[in-house]
Amino acid sequence: MDTKVRVRFAPSPTGMLHIGNARTALFNYLFAKHHRGIFILRIEDTDLDRSDYSLTDQMLKDLRWLGFDWDEGPDKGGPYGPYRQSERLDIYREYANELLIKGRVYKCFCTPDDLERMRRQQISKGEMPRYDGRCRNLTEEEVLKKEKGGNRPALRFHVGRGKISFEDLIHGKMNFDADKIGDFIIIRSDGIAAYNFACVIDDHLMNVSHVIRGEDHLSNTPRQILLYKALGWIPPFFAHHPLILGSDRTPLSKRHGSTAVSQYREEGFLPEALINYLLILGWTSPTNEEVIPMERMIEEFSISSLSRNAPIHSLKKLEWLNGIYIRRKDNDELSELISPYLEKEGLNNIDRDTLLKISDAIKENIVKLSEIKEYLGIFFDEKFNFNEEAKKIILNDKNLKVIETVIDIITSTISDFKLEEWSSFLTKVEEKTGLKGKELLIPIRAGVTGMTKGPQLVKIFNILGKERVLKRLNMALNIFYTN
Ligand code: GLU
Repeated sequence: MDTKVRVRFAPSPTGMLHIGNARTALFNYLFAKHHRGIFILRIEDTDLDRSDYSLTDQMLKDLRWLGFDWDEGPDKGGPYGPYRQSERLDIYREYANELLIKGRVYKCFCTPDDLERMRRQQISKGEMPRYDGRCRNLTEEEVLKKEKGGNRPALRFHVGRGKISFEDLIHGKMNFDADKIGDFIIIRSDGIAAYNFACVIDDHLMNVSHVIRGEDHLSNTPRQILLYKALGWIPPFFAHHPLILGSDRTPLSKRHGSTAVSQYREEGFLPEALINYLLILGWTSPTNEEVIPMERMIEEFSISSLSRNAPIHSLKKLEWLNGIYIRRKDNDELSELISPYLEKEGLNNIDRDTLLKISDAIKENIVKLSEIKEYLGIFFDEKFNFNEEAKKIILNDKNLKVIETVIDIITSTISDFKLEEWSSFLTKVEEKTGLKGKELLIPIRAGVTGMTKGPQLVKIFNILGKERVLKRLNMALNIFYTN
């Protein structure tokens, strides 16, 4: 085997890329980069009924959005292509034939009904359901007769007896009993290779050195090892990482909320934050830090440092990290990122200066980009209104006095809200009202933004300018006097 590290991420395009897949891709990617190896993307689309070309495209898009680039793959080509299993069906048939000639596989004519009956009988006898090997003993004449009669056989691998063991790079020594594994199909009756077979052929022909995948594939590995042996090949190293669980400790699924990477993107999570989150779920940096840039992830990553325990998904933690990554964006980058969310709300063609200022103001308040929606009323008159909490604040004599004083001071002394004018403005309001801090700022905020929380007032005043601030404060007065 080639000594170079070659790993693959091999999704089946039967649904959207979910965060569990993304995590597997991440481990493979980091391992490849750490060892200056090759990261392969292989599309396992042999399940032709359930696989979909548009889903494959969406998966590639999601993977690129997450920041992955692959050295070999369906769109890039490479020395061991094609990289879509649906384009490799002849290769699988060729190796299946080799095993047929060697007598390691046999033709099986059992129908789904036969198999179901067998399963029920075994269960009723208290046995573990598995294929009982009945077609293994068909004579050549019987096989010929069935084929002539139009029955198309599947090819089944003869498992045999004995123990199968391998060293998992995360779990250590794993032992399986061949007696418990029924003879399994490698080529279905429609001529299409089954997952275990296609996977072994590809991993071998693509020179894959390490197979890093989820624990859900642990039971496939002994079958795959048997296939390697039968074909006279050396298996790669295997590492099966635990799967992400929901807060109720059951495997993460739609029941627990968003699982698709694209949903997280739409909600306004940043790829860097999602990647960082997926890594620290079940991996601890040697320095114990949690916010880790990609270069450091690559430098510090090793399979042996992955936890054996299943990690529990925490949206709170992801949001916390996302907030950090949002705050790290400069205003230019952030304005690009928030624009689509404004457009969704019908706010198109906002001038660049305003966008930059809004980005700067909002950074501290949102943990995902879509949350900007809650604050649009502050900046855009067409979205402005007073929420109930703000109204409650305004409908109070003491607060009303603050608002009236502020209107007076702005009208008589403020030319416009430059950032540097803010503190002298506040001092004036303090002097006139005899109030300080929250007692002052809460009514001003309620009157100007229609809300009781949000970005720093100084930034909001600077964006709105004198006229709009006054207009809103007068609207607040109006609320008081008409209620
Ligand atoms: N196509 C399989 C899946 O999506 C990948 C299996 C493997 O990595 O061997 O789960």
